[in-house]
Amino acid sequence: MARWLCRLQHSAEWLLQPERRDGPECGRRMRIRYEKRRAVFTLTGLERLRLKVQWCENAACSRHHQPYRPEAEGRIALPHHEFGLDVIALIGALRHRAHRSVPEIHAALTERGLLICERSVTNLLDRYDELVAAALDAPKRAALAAQGRVILALDGLQPDVGHEVLWVIRDCLSGRVLLARPLLSATQADLASLLREVAAALEVPVAGVVSDGQHAIRRAVAEALPGVPHQLCQFHYLREAARPLFEADRHAKKELKKTVRGVRPVERRMEGRDDEAARVVAGYCAAVRSALTDDGRPPLAAPG
Ligand SMILES: [Zn+2]
Repeated sequence: MARWLCRLQHSAEWLLQPERRDGPECGRRMRIRYEKRRAVFTLTGLERLRLKVQWCENAACSRHHQPYRPEAEGRIALPHHEFGLDVIALIGALRHRAHRSVPEIHAALTERGLLICERSVTNLLDRYDELVAAALDAPKRAALAAQGRVILALDGLQPDVGHEVLWVIRDCLSGRVLLARPLLSATQADLASLLREVAAALEVPVAGVVSDGQHAIRRAVAEALPGVPHQLCQFHYLREAARPLFEADRHAKKELKKTVRGVRPVERRMEGRDDEAARVVAGYCAAVRSALTDDGRPPLAAPG
């Protein structure tokens, strides 16, 4: 079987919902109107995303029928990207900190099981350099001014322990990255200064902040943007907590398959019998069969 097919079968599907439900302009509750699907290659494998997209139904509102996507999506991948933001962060760290060449980076990613061609590594390295160099220039500011406000998301991407963290500040309304900076340490003061830098360059108010709620981030937001509502995005830390359980479940199934063979012959011997013992054995057979064939679903992946 082709390797990518295995990956597709084993990949988890995540359901992402917007954290913010009130319209950023008029404050009325937005309604979920449709679903988008996306597949992203990340350092932990192929992530399939189901995204609930909502919009404001108020015809008098300037954001009437303008899609609002789940805030957590932008931490996984940039708009229209096939590879995750964690891959971009790792490529940047390997190039600029570890001084590896593109073929060396390509080899390192392939070793980790990521299917990527060398040209994509070059493209993603360019993307990393653009992100880190990008300033909030006049055209960007004008585009943000037209939407009247921003909702900031602050995320730290650490591709590997010991690597620097790529801090990314995005606007959830437009999906744009406003600032990306690699930092070796991330104290409250470091993060507050990044937030202040973005807020000072903007010509519009910050209507809210979304983050995974780490202590340093919470305190930095309170320090740099006093009075701005700060919403916690539960998806990311719950996902990290859930991953080891999901892996353990998959491992248990593999071990069970090694030792349990031939459920069918046992079932066949019970066919035609209707006594108590046969019913008990049939029940056990059904339980073993379902343990072997049903895939565990990671938490937060909704059924159906
Ligand atoms: Zn509205």
